[in-house]
Amino acid sequence: MEPFLSYHDIKKEKITNLERMTDKQALIQTEALLRATKWFTTQNSKPETKLMKLTKFKNEPYTDWSKPANRKKQELAIAKIEKQFGKEYPNIIGGEKLTAKEKLHSLNPSNPNQVVGVFQKGTVDDALKALKVAEKKFAEWSKVPPAKRADYLFKAAKIMRKRRFESNATMIIEVGKNWMEADGDTAEAIDFLEFYGREMLRYADQKAAVQLPGEKDEVVYIPLGVGIVIPPWNFPFAILAGMTTAAVVAGNTVILKPSSDSPLTGMRFMEVMEEAGLPAGVINFVAGPGSAVGDTLIKHPKSRFIAFTGSKEVGIHINTEAAKVLPGQIWLKRVVAEMGGKDSIIVDSEANFEEAVAGVTVSAFGFQGQKCSACSRAIVDAKIYDKFVAALKKRVDAIPVGEAKDLSNYMGPVINKGAMENIMRYIEVAQKEGGKLVSGGVRASEDGYFIRPTVIANVEPKATISQEEIFGPVLAVIKAKNFDHALEIANNTEYGLTGAVYSKNKKKIERARTEFHVGNLYLNRKCTGAMVGAHPFGGFNMSGTDSKAGGRDYLLLFLQAKSIATKIK
Ligand code: NAD
Repeated sequence: MEPFLSYHDIKKEKITNLERMTDKQALIQTEALLRATKWFTTQNSKPETKLMKLTKFKNEPYTDWSKPANRKKQELAIAKIEKQFGKEYPNIIGGEKLTAKEKLHSLNPSNPNQVVGVFQKGTVDDALKALKVAEKKFAEWSKVPPAKRADYLFKAAKIMRKRRFESNATMIIEVGKNWMEADGDTAEAIDFLEFYGREMLRYADQKAAVQLPGEKDEVVYIPLGVGIVIPPWNFPFAILAGMTTAAVVAGNTVILKPSSDSPLTGMRFMEVMEEAGLPAGVINFVAGPGSAVGDTLIKHPKSRFIAFTGSKEVGIHINTEAAKVLPGQIWLKRVVAEMGGKDSIIVDSEANFEEAVAGVTVSAFGFQGQKCSACSRAIVDAKIYDKFVAALKKRVDAIPVGEAKDLSNYMGPVINKGAMENIMRYIEVAQKEGGKLVSGGVRASEDGYFIRPTVIANVEPKATISQEEIFGPVLAVIKAKNFDHALEIANNTEYGLTGAVYSKNKKKIERARTEFHVGNLYLNRKCTGAMVGAHPFGGFNMSGTDSKAGGRDYLLLFLQAKSIATKIK
């Protein structure tokens, strides 16, 4: 996609690009650029705003672990988190740090005897208080100029870079991400902040498509109100930060309910925003059970929108409850719901075989298969099926599994005991339904929630493990008669999140572009690892509302457009 222009680049870009345009295009472009420059200068000239200088958006690079200095810093950050085990953290409402009678314990899934942090089990009263505070704050925050709101995100991104090893360490310990995955999560959070900040600047400078004679015709994008943000535990920093800051930069205030499996990572985000100087009450942090706190927030007539990422079941529940109009409610709530996946990789007979085996392995077992984008079905052409299963087994059997804090482990634990038992149950069901266990199928150790990466072959397209989201390190390998059959299988679930095709045949690739019904399609590459800006993320059907996080349409979900026509003569 086109990189963003900083307002400082405008002049340079104007000269280079104008040469390639028609006169009419050039005129329109010049007007837009001049308007943007003028607008930014006005914003920037206010002495109290002191906005940061903007550069072009660029994805955040990953940490180079081959450098001993980086490894040392990460080890020290992990040791620091371990020293803080058992520490208690408050809920934060309007900047006030509050405790509750009952507590939530966040555990280390690599070693569940370790209490990573003690959190407050927020109550219905806490949820109501947060709603009141957020509603009051909205009146003020919604009037803060967009450029200043964006600037808080740019400042926060800078702080995240500085505190990178700390957020990485928190995820390594709290949810069992390996170092690379944790670092990718932090990098994605930084990307979201940088991207949405720039997006807000773009939305703040829109113009009506047509100017009627004798009128000034404008479209201004204004915020919605109080939003409820409900993230999952699996991208506990990036998704939480992305949903929250998109809502906030658009001028809304937010009540953030972190997942009970990853509240410390959520707290790390709150610390960053506090350090960035975000006014109290713009983001209110209320940990607590989804059933009590979450439902109160969602069902309340004053909540204006809900940004949710999580399972299909909870997403449907939220969508259903949010649709009910309650006494005193003067709007239809907006629901942004990103839900589960049952993602497939098609391996065609004409694929680059080695690349396909590697791509399937990484997509299926990165972060223990606990990504909504994870490959849980490899659909392999019958001509190469046996060879593929054998090559896959060789690779998967060699995957090291163990404590996430040890850099040499590619796979860590699954998130909690319930998830572990559920995954083991699916492995049993798969075999009862005729699946052949090729690799794994057992726990890797009894100390934490470790499961060996599991490959099950001979899975029927309609078998349970081919249809239901397992959300763990279990891969079904399905045999397809040919490419038509492979596409038919790939589209046979209720989901439509990610998918990939490995084939050197251009015609087949072309067919996949139109016939493979997923929100994020990858051709001749893995189906995980969406990058902000390049791969706007979100799925079809029961995978959610196709919000396209990290894309240019995303901020619109947190805004409403107001058309203003002024008669000028
Ligand atoms: P989950 O649905 O169990 O929980 C998600 C969030 O909802 C948590 O914060 C939880 O506390 C909260 N919640 C639970 N019940 C609630 C209720 N009644 N009211 C309000 N909130 C409630 O999901 P999870 O286990 O945290 O995450 C894994 C799921 O998320 C998987 O299905 C995965 O595919 C999905 N996911 C989707 C995407 C995407 O972009 N589509 C990204 C990441 C994860």
